[in-house]
Amino acid sequence: MHIADIFTERGQTFSFEFFPPKTADSAASLFDNIAELIPLKPSHVSVTYGAGGGTRKVTHDLVVRIKQQTPLEVMPHLTCVGHTEAEIYDILEGYASAGISNILALGGDPPRNAPNYDRSLDAFRYASQLVQYIRKFKDRHAGTAIGDPRGFGIAVAGFPEGHPSTPNRVKEIEHLKAKVDAGADCIITQLFFDNRDFYDFRERCELAGITVPIVAGIMPVTSSSGLMRMADLAAGARFPARLLRAISRCNGRADATRRVGIHWATEQCRDLLDNDVAGIHFYTLNKSTATREIYASLGVETSLDLAADIPAP
Ligand code: FAD
Repeated sequence: MHIADIFTERGQTFSFEFFPPKTADSAASLFDNIAELIPLKPSHVSVTYGAGGGTRKVTHDLVVRIKQQTPLEVMPHLTCVGHTEAEIYDILEGYASAGISNILALGGDPPRNAPNYDRSLDAFRYASQLVQYIRKFKDRHAGTAIGDPRGFGIAVAGFPEGHPSTPNRVKEIEHLKAKVDAGADCIITQLFFDNRDFYDFRERCELAGITVPIVAGIMPVTSSSGLMRMADLAAGARFPARLLRAISRCNGRADATRRVGIHWATEQCRDLLDNDVAGIHFYTLNKSTATREIYASLGVETSLDLAADIPAP
């Protein structure tokens, strides 16, 4: 289903992000976790794309397997980095023929092991150009392969606390607007830990004339080592002192750290829901437990209950 129709049908979206597993064992474990998440009735799930196009085949295969073997709507991520136009065309063609309706179009980062990576070899420099290309893709197909006259639904990334490559935050919102003007249907944000950063970002988008839904990216801290990895991977994300203090009070006890991190993320979600968030995107790290605990603590059984307008008790 096209992402615009998901928003119309659901009111708010609740999506889960997975990454392509590296081994057969981790693939089996991922599918066990997906089976545990299905009862939460997410509006859709997404599958990441390795830096530099490194997971082209595994991302594609996981996307198709989820599509074929589960009832879930699945949105692949796709990056500019590492691809010629012909490769992007083939990837889109593969997704169109697999019945995939939506793509998360990203700039992407160069592979970590290639500090001198030459971006001039990539067909597209910025995500806005990829969005433009995906929009045009439907014309080349005359609407037949995708089966929707609008072509793919397109999501793009947003950075509430800013993206490190553009220190000028005014310019950055202009670049985000360019992605939306090129045809993006919604924005999914980088993870953040202080909702005020998200609300301020949402307001700055509004002032810039960005009207598409903005979905909040949430990832609970579940361990001290996980926090260090998040700090490394999540470009721009700030770890508030209050959260760091709460975690340090756990004094390295794994279970306590986990409970603090999940409680923090739950409170973020509760507050976002109270402030009319367009959707929440859960970075699951291929595990189901934290997301299921957040839903349980929010007092709901499924995403449909999260989106429901519930009368005051
Ligand atoms: P862009 O929109 O191209 O922006 C990149 C930088 O260039 C920004 O600083 C922007 O301000 C600047 N810029 C844009 N247009 C212009 C212009 N015309 N002139 C000058 N500067 C410009 N990475 C992966 O490799 N695989 C994934 O699966 C993946 N999934 C992600 C999912 C989400 C929800 C998010 C938030 C990020 C994800 N990333 C992923 C990370 C992302 O690819 C990187 O952070 C990347 O550096 C920025 O991506 P972008 O799509 O915002 O790029």
